[in-house]
Amino acid sequence: MGYKSVCIDCRKSLNRPLDTGSDRLYPCSLCGKPMTLLSHRFRPPKKTDDKKWETVKYLIENGFYYDHVYQKIETNCNGVTSYQNYATYPDNIRDAKEFVEKYKEQARK
Ligand SMILES: [Zn+2]
Repeated sequence: MGYKSVCIDCRKSLNRPLDTGSDRLYPCSLCGKPMTLLSHRFRPPKKTDDKKWETVKYLIENGFYYDHVYQKIETNCNGVTSYQNYATYPDNIRDAKEFVEKYKEQARK
């Protein structure tokens, strides 16, 4: 397990070992801004793929950092909550808007 640190502006991503509990910032080596830490599940698009990067940026701005998002969250009569089916992260802006709307309760605040 690890993180990917990503600079959306430079479209650059680096693998990071897991470093929990640290709020250390990793400045981007190109622009010097702090990089965004994303789940290791994040697959960076090609540098030239504007649409996909636009989608990534949109999702992050809306609190989706490529952590698991569940299609269904149910609480049964015993008060036990179950999480079912991971949702797939969209790779185009149209699907991303739907995704954000549908799963906004699961967004990171
Ligand atoms: Zn940068």
